[in-house]
Amino acid sequence: MSDQPPRPGDETSADAPQTAPNTCPACGGTGAVQGKPCPTCEGTGEVTVTVGDA
Ligand SMILES: [Zn+2]
Repeated sequence: MSDQPPRPGDETSADAPQTAPNTCPACGGTGAVQGKPCPTCEGTGEVTVTVGDA
């Protein structure tokens, strides 16, 4: 995928929660569990986690 629109100010959003991609703990980043698409990351192998004050 390389058709994402530009996102100005994405790094410093005062009100938006801080999120970061992380390797899916359920499938270890493979995107599949026991031959099936991982339900946790929906097959992407990555999950978005919220960081910061929570
Ligand atoms: Zn997963």
